[in-house]
Amino acid sequence: MEKQIILNKRHIDLTLKRLCYQLIESHNDFSNAIIIGLQPRGIHVVTRLKKQLEEILGKEVICGNLDITFYRDDFRRREKPLIPSATNIDFVIEGKNIIIVDDVLFTGRTIRAGLDALLAFGRPARVELLAFIDRRFNRDLPIQADYIGKTVDTLSEERVSVEWSETEGEDKVILFTP
Ligand code: 5GP
Ligand code: MG
Repeated sequence: MEKQIILNKRHIDLTLKRLCYQLIESHNDFSNAIIIGLQPRGIHVVTRLKKQLEEILGKEVICGNLDITFYRDDFRRREKPLIPSATNIDFVIEGKNIIIVDDVLFTGRTIRAGLDALLAFGRPARVELLAFIDRRFNRDLPIQADYIGKTVDTLSEERVSVEWSETEGEDKVILFTP
């Protein structure tokens, strides 16, 4: 297995900072915007974005978590039962600008499911997508991100590992090639 570090801690810091300013460019002080992380790994990206956005803006930025387990198009086709994570949306999304966040965008099927899961809560004014890593060239659906941390050209058998100090001990993104 070949291993290549594509983002180190310094790159990740810079990337998150840039994403925050891009979000502020579109959503000003977030008074009508809400960030929603997809479980399980989009949550880590949201935690970082929330902290930095709140530091920059000096006010609370509303964030939630969304679990898409039962909205997956393959959930009835699995041998093992899927165990869902928590959904935390204790605010009204009606009329809001929603930014869905995930760590890796690949085929787009997760985001399609995320849209279904989200729309069950109401009718937002607009929904955007932030992908920390965009594995382009592998999309099954016409889904693209509005904000991208880093675009990585991958083969489908490759794997990107997005690691955070909170869970893996260090911030880094690694590309594994079999
Ligand atoms: P998709 O549904 O777009 O094919 O895949 C996206 C979902 O699968 C994301 O929630 C992401 O966590 C996970 N995923 C797909 N490819 C990778 C990858 O290379 N690395 C990681 N860490 N997650 C991936
Ligand atoms: Mg995921």
